[in-house]
Amino acid sequence: MIVVIISVAGAFRKGKSFLLNFFLEYLYNLHKSQQSDSSLEWLTDDCQLHGFHWRAGVKRDTVGIWLWGEPIMIESVTGEMFAVLLMDTQGTFDNNSTYQQCMTVFALSTIVSSVQIYNVVDNIQEDALQHLSLFVEYGRMAMEQPHNFGKPFQQLVFCVRDFKNQEEYEFGENGGTDFLDNILQTNPEQPEEIKAVRELLREYFEDIQCYLLPHPGYKVAERQSFRGHVKDLRPLFREELKKMVPNLLGPHNLKPKIVNGKTVTCRKMIQYFKEYAASFDGETLPQPQSILNANAKLICIEAAHEAKVNYCRGMDRSTYGTRMMSEKKLLEAHIKHGITALNIYDKCPKIGSKEVRSLLLEKLQEDINAELERYKRLNEAKRVTGCASAMLACGDSVFL
Ligand code: GDP
Ligand code: MG
Repeated sequence: MIVVIISVAGAFRKGKSFLLNFFLEYLYNLHKSQQSDSSLEWLTDDCQLHGFHWRAGVKRDTVGIWLWGEPIMIESVTGEMFAVLLMDTQGTFDNNSTYQQCMTVFALSTIVSSVQIYNVVDNIQEDALQHLSLFVEYGRMAMEQPHNFGKPFQQLVFCVRDFKNQEEYEFGENGGTDFLDNILQTNPEQPEEIKAVRELLREYFEDIQCYLLPHPGYKVAERQSFRGHVKDLRPLFREELKKMVPNLLGPHNLKPKIVNGKTVTCRKMIQYFKEYAASFDGETLPQPQSILNANAKLICIEAAHEAKVNYCRGMDRSTYGTRMMSEKKLLEAHIKHGITALNIYDKCPKIGSKEVRSLLLEKLQEDINAELERYKRLNEAKRVTGCASAMLACGDSVFL
């Protein structure tokens, strides 16, 4: 099953969890309409939003990275089934966590998601661009590798809430595109680092979009008064959401998560999460090199797995049958299939540090040697069963 991961990140108390509930409302209704072959209805007058916890006030509610408890199955336009996962992140860069921890959560959620929705209020400030400099640094490094898989990051969507400058930029995607073009313009006074982000961000993300959303209405924004009833939303806000959400999550627009040039399955995703999380120790700012090494490790793990499977298949073929083979023949088969396996491993795309590759090569060699011991034991067992069947054969002839 192919995975799509939608993440929403940004400062706390800016309506991220609230936005995710519209995503849930859309995706569950889309799923229902696909299953029953009926037309899609969502965000109707009588609908009440629920799902991710949103709340007014200043106390932080979401800590770390949260995944919605189940994937929502959506049939893509090509007929493939996608498992869509929604991700809510810690209030990034809030006043309660260290800057480094926030950076880690933001970087990790961007790396593991197919779409990162960067939620900001009113404007895209310089510091929001500053937080993206890690991706520019990493992007540059990834593209300089002997093997590069194209753009290292997938989709980045700025979602500007409570946008006020409506005279200059219309709400929605079109206004957002013009607004973002303006923000990403460079001038000589800007600090070098932020200038690089402006110039290079588009090089390293496959797609960058921006949506401008109006204020949702006083019932939503006022403390405690909103209970999730859609009819309490400001109509203009509701209209814009009805356009934005299908644009991001509709069957035509869902983007499977891609790691190292390949789509990711649910099973592999768990391993990917673990590797990426391990490469950020949580206390220090994630280094581009550690992300690259996590990627390199994932490639090597997969190549080593393929190599080992290939070795075992070859050995199974060579040792097939009930007759025991000589130790010499067994070792010849081991050398032949062992060399093929090492060649498979050696052909994997080369990125990151050499240490990662040689560590996993050592592990592959150990695994293959362990497998050889297993084949030796199996072969030895044939001596016994071979004798037993020979005796049986003799016995048969005696009794006949
Ligand atoms: P999070 O911390 O970013 O996840 O924010 P929440 O989703 O918990 O929302 C915080 C508060 O902002 C809640 O009271 C929401 O009702 C309110 N809210 C949600 N969306 C918006 C918006 O677009 N504009 C304004 N002004 N308030 C919003
Ligand atoms: Mg939240």
